[in-house]
Amino acid sequence: MKYFQRWMLIVLSILPALGCDTQKVATQYVEESLYGTVITLRDGTKVRGELVYVYDFSKLIFGEERDEQIYAIFDPTKYSPDPRQDRSFTMISSNDFDPNSIQINPPNPNIQRYEDFVREMGFSIEILPFNGMWHVLEYNESYHRKEGGCGNFAWDILKTDQLGNYHCQSGNGCNHGYSVSDHYAWNQPVLMPITGFIKEFRDDFPDNPPYLEHPPGSSNYVLIELNGGYYLGLVHFRQGSITANGIKPGNRYEVGTEIGRVGNSGFSAVPHIHMTLFWKASVGPNGCRGLGWSVPTFFQKLYISDTNRNAELKKDVQPHKGQRVSNDRF
Ligand SMILES: [Zn+2]
Repeated sequence: MKYFQRWMLIVLSILPALGCDTQKVATQYVEESLYGTVITLRDGTKVRGELVYVYDFSKLIFGEERDEQIYAIFDPTKYSPDPRQDRSFTMISSNDFDPNSIQINPPNPNIQRYEDFVREMGFSIEILPFNGMWHVLEYNESYHRKEGGCGNFAWDILKTDQLGNYHCQSGNGCNHGYSVSDHYAWNQPVLMPITGFIKEFRDDFPDNPPYLEHPPGSSNYVLIELNGGYYLGLVHFRQGSITANGIKPGNRYEVGTEIGRVGNSGFSAVPHIHMTLFWKASVGPNGCRGLGWSVPTFFQKLYISDTNRNAELKKDVQPHKGQRVSNDRF
């Protein structure tokens, strides 16, 4: 956290000079981003754009922790629909510039915001990929920030009962959560969250017994191709369930099509699906063991509640930990 804290101090010390409300900007850090950032690299190159996020490698759940941050600078003018040419993000290592030299200028109204870009490009999520009411276990809140770029803006979604339990508590055949089949999310259909081409998938990894997660890299997943370097990723499918649905890489599937079943493969302790927008760089550092960087997006519309009822229909929304979500009113 050392560099991160130092960076925040720099932001807070620069902003008063610009007449900004420091408190407000500090809290906007993740949610609304900063514009007009200029980073001067050690070789003199200047990188300009919107600072969307800073990926921190000083606290990791797995892998080697290091005092390094990756600054995600967004510039819509560098976007290309060809993934090999898409430079809409520039990922800059804190090793390559002096964090004291970062400049944060007032927003440039002539440059499209990342959020508007996501909306216009159709990189937001059309539907929750499940039937019925589900439960958000985690968003950009705790452990997702420590996964080396794999999950910073992912939603971990599972199914709970009226009391918020993930699994059966008693009754015939209930193993108190120690069998995957005890878990309400287990083997539930997973639907296409958006219409698109499935670029690739894996579903040959075994499912873990609950609470015995494997290291990352052994998760069954689907990558849905959007445009440029952007992909929607869904992770932790049940072994064999994608193939069983007849899914073929390179085919286009309509939103709502069943593509697999919820499993517990790879870095998953309890059956759930991890869903995120990835930006996969063809140049520069790449996040998530080459799968890309988890970047922000939102649901186009979703019924949301903090409890099991009284859901409200929200648009362009990023549900957070503990919220109940559904495509239908509940
Ligand atoms: Zn996750």
